[in-house]
Amino acid sequence: MALSGLQIFKLLAKTNCKECGFPTCMAFAMQLAAGKAELDQCPYVSDEAKAALGEASAPPVRKVTVGAGDMAVTVGEETVLYRHEKRFEHMPGLGILITDEMDESQVGSLLAQLKQTVFNYVGVTLRPRVAAIKAADGARLTALAARADAEAGAAIILMSDDADALKSAAEPIKDKKPLLYAATESNFDAVSAVAKELDVPFAIKADSLDRLAELGQKALDGDFKEVVLDPLPASLGDVLLDNTIIRRAAIKKTFRALGFPTIGFPCDMTGDRMLEAVYASVFIAKYSGFVILSDLDPARVMPLLYLSQNIYTDPQRPMQMEQGIYPVGEPGPESPVLVTTNFSLTYFTVSSEVEASKVPTWLCIMDVEGQSVLTAWAAGKFVADAIAPFLKKSGIEEKAPHKKVIIPGYVAQISGELEEELGDGWDVQVGVREAADIPKFLRQWNPG
Ligand code: SF4
Repeated sequence: MALSGLQIFKLLAKTNCKECGFPTCMAFAMQLAAGKAELDQCPYVSDEAKAALGEASAPPVRKVTVGAGDMAVTVGEETVLYRHEKRFEHMPGLGILITDEMDESQVGSLLAQLKQTVFNYVGVTLRPRVAAIKAADGARLTALAARADAEAGAAIILMSDDADALKSAAEPIKDKKPLLYAATESNFDAVSAVAKELDVPFAIKADSLDRLAELGQKALDGDFKEVVLDPLPASLGDVLLDNTIIRRAAIKKTFRALGFPTIGFPCDMTGDRMLEAVYASVFIAKYSGFVILSDLDPARVMPLLYLSQNIYTDPQRPMQMEQGIYPVGEPGPESPVLVTTNFSLTYFTVSSEVEASKVPTWLCIMDVEGQSVLTAWAAGKFVADAIAPFLKKSGIEEKAPHKKVIIPGYVAQISGELEEELGDGWDVQVGVREAADIPKFLRQWNPG
């Protein structure tokens, strides 16, 4: 049972010290009750209060982890309905469906696809991680799950209505936290008992939200925390409606019975692969924790992963690189030195054009809190008296003692001032404005 803001307030230190980031303990309590703050933001919560507040401070959408290591997928822990209110926490886990109707070589090629499909998007590794294994027979389910584990290290979803089959397949890989799919009205007790015994998450499915909520309540009554919901949408409209209602109920009403992440199977909703990608995009846009596809054709998986990445990027934190010197190619003491900002997009655009030039180059990336060149210049962060100390402390002089530095063409106006700030024989050269012109510029560059 969720506590009200006032009930939470009574358990706090009431010193209004502001260390939690809120002006008063009451303000913090109200945000905590709404699921918009986290208990550990207040360093003064007693153990006793923690125990009492544990449930109230749990995120309105519970966290669920399936799989282990690099291939683990964590979903849930969401606290807002719209990303701009704070941020979305965990990207959905994308994966493939493997069934007992497939022959061994088909299974092998899908698992190889799962293992090999990796994209790098502005410095972030994006990949599908999930294998959903569907088999009627327990022995076949066990064998396929073992293959998915051994050949792809996948986060595994075991699909069967038979609790015994789920148990036999899950037991050997229980440390990898497979998701049991799924408990229904008729097998809830048996499937949830397996989940409890093996300490693994399980899914519940029902074709109406009322029945899904009843099963969700049963899971809560049984003290299950890692549960995934499947509202079994029959159409694209249902995907949108069901997932929105579930998320809204969890966030706005703190309705715990639907306060779990969801799973979607666009692979089962249409025979048309392009249409399947459209369905998958709706599952991704509308809150799904797991999205299962028929295959991993890069032409469809890549945009789906990029879409997920964009939706789940924290709007309050620009994507940024760490400050430092990045060699492109194998630069030496005579190689050109470029300086620019640590906005990820700037870095990747510039570095890929430098790479295309085939001129080994030192790239000095300066921390301006992830802003682009012109924004950082306008904010007074990418200016002469900040760039000069950065370059001097960066160690670039040891790597390229020629003391020539190329600045982006957009900040040509700082070249004189930067030369003065650097002093000591430095030569500041103005580069190009557009990244696309970098290869030609570098090929013609002469240390002089
Ligand atoms: S940090 Fe804790 S004690 Fe301080 S204002 Fe916030 S809630 Fe109150």
